[in-house]
Formats: sequence, structure tokens, C-alpha cells
Amino acid sequence: MELDALYQEVILDHYKHPQHKGLLSTYDAQVHHVNPSCGDEITLNLALENNSISSISWDGVGCSISQASVSIMSDLVIGKSVDEARVVLDNFVELMQSKGIKTGDPAILEDAVSLAGVSKFPARIKCALLGWMAYKDAVLSASTK
Ligand code: ZN
Repeated sequence: MELDALYQEVILDHYKHPQHKGLLSTYDAQVHHVNPSCGDEITLNLALENNSISSISWDGVGCSISQASVSIMSDLVIGKSVDEARVVLDNFVELMQSKGIKTGDPAILEDAVSLAGVSKFPARIKCALLGWMAYKDAVLSASTK
């Protein structure tokens, strides 16, 4: 199987079986982010405990890239400390800005490396980043409370 096809499958799997979708009622911060150029929307609830991400739940509509990406992101950062999650976030943003040059470090990004190909398509980068930017916003607002 081609690598691209495999990646496509990971994205489709997260899209069809989204992780942590469905908003939990307990949270420290709630954010709502939209990507008007594509029509993607994500509401994200985040809870912190001892400076670690104890829960993320989200709801959203939009393209497969945006919805798969937020599902992948949730899986990756839940249970990590805010500092560890920042490393993951920075790596992912760097990957998205690489214009198809970088493949991503699977040791850090796990399933998120499947989105590497998106960085070749400027119009889709915002789709992939939407959930991650929502997370970044939520963690900032939760930690400054
Ligand atoms: Zn989109």
C-alpha cells in the first residue's frame, strides 16, 4: 500500500470514528473556532488538572481534514502536561508550514503525521490547524483563570 493511501485511511478512520467528540459538561475553558474559507466549525471544552490536560471534548462540523485533525489532536494531548502538549503543537504547526517538505516525527506526532500531505495545499492548512488553534486558545484561557 502506498504511504499516501495509508495516511488517507488514518484520516478517514478519525473522520468516521471521531475520538472525544461530544461535549462534556465539566471544563475550565470553552472555545469556538471557525474556518470561514471552508465552513469548518469546532467547539472545544478543555479541563486542566495540575497543569496537565485532564480532558478535551469537542463538537464540530466541516470537512474530513478539520474533523479528523481535531480528533487526532485530542487523542494526542489528553493526559500530557501543558508543556509536553506545547511541543506536540509546535511540531504540528511546523509540519503544516513545511510546504510538503517535512514528513513529521511519528514519535511526537503519532497519527498526526498522516496530515503531513496537507501542507502542500495552502487552502487546506487552516482546516488541519483549526482544532489545534482551538486547543491553544482553550489552554491559554484555562491557565490564566
Ligand atoms: Zn476544511
